[in-house]
Amino acid sequence: MIKLKYRTGLKDMPSYDVVERDWNIKVNANESNLNMPPMVEERLMARLSSVAFNRYPNEQVDTLAEQIAANFNLGKENVLIANGSSEILEKLFFAFGGRGRKIVYPQPSFSMYKIYAKFSASTGVPVDLKDDYTFDPVAFVDAVKENKATLAVICSPNNPTGTKIPLADIEYVAKNIDCAFAVDEAYVEFDGGTAVGLMRDYPHMMIARTFSKAYGLASARVGYLLADKKIIEMVGKACMPYHVNVLSAITADIVYQMRDEYVPRIQMSIAERKRMSELLKQIDGMEIYPSVTNFILVKHPQAVEINKYLESLGIGVRSFGNAPRLENCLRISMGTREENDTWYKAIKDFVEGNVQ
Ligand SMILES: *Cc1c(COP(=O)(O)O)cnc(C)c1O
Repeated sequence: MIKLKYRTGLKDMPSYDVVERDWNIKVNANESNLNMPPMVEERLMARLSSVAFNRYPNEQVDTLAEQIAANFNLGKENVLIANGSSEILEKLFFAFGGRGRKIVYPQPSFSMYKIYAKFSASTGVPVDLKDDYTFDPVAFVDAVKENKATLAVICSPNNPTGTKIPLADIEYVAKNIDCAFAVDEAYVEFDGGTAVGLMRDYPHMMIARTFSKAYGLASARVGYLLADKKIIEMVGKACMPYHVNVLSAITADIVYQMRDEYVPRIQMSIAERKRMSELLKQIDGMEIYPSVTNFILVKHPQAVEINKYLESLGIGVRSFGNAPRLENCLRISMGTREENDTWYKAIKDFVEGNVQ
């Protein structure tokens, strides 16, 4: 075997570390536990029969961009469609990062920021959230300035803490930094408090969104960036030709057209989050972080053992191992009411010692 010369640093890159198996109850990835509403599926199936599979995608992606732009009173040139907001984020780190450059983001937050920083050969600079996981705008701005960062990223509502960054704090950051500023709004549909309105006054601001969470379309990998048209043009250069496939584009297009169909399930998820937060408080030693998303972060001294027990029952929640500042934390996505009752009972039984 020839000794292959992989790119410098690749060997030490972590793999995306979610352990998947055939769970009985899967509440570990903040997905929707409901598949497409039947009316949406029907329309998609009809549309599939008219796809020109032999052609590269073109107008399908444009149509989606136009539709999204119209919803925000923006132009098509302010929207970049991509393979999930993951691709958006990766390209942002690529476009604004590079050797010798620094990119600032909160900690704990979405685990991929650190990895995209490495991938883009940039230096990631995590800024600690406060002890209660709320955002510290002053510390964040100071870090951006001290490091002369070229990109600042925040996540609101934040994954995995579920906490939201107040709009006033986001504006404070926008006003006081002089580099590209991206807000990851992967969970905003569960909350409504978007920062899109700030983009008008702060053209260095960008918003990343996804179809994977509230719209239950994780399988199709579709996300988008809203930004000034120069930013869209530059970040677009970092994408390969025809990077978004037709099947995903038309699926997202139909889902977006029919997004009213998703309102009841989004509301159900919010109601479940409230119900489960209250119930979790009744478990001895359980600390619950207030969430505005479709998941709840909890801390418990026996988190590792609880997770093992849940695994033995085929229930997958997200445990963070030794990730910074997430010791003894578990993140649980809201499933159906029955699923939630099941994992809750399992946790309660375990903590109360009702398990062999
Ligand atoms: C899930 C998630 C993403 C990635 O979503 P995709 O669109 O599926 O790539 C981005 N940011 C945060 C905070 C997320 O939780």
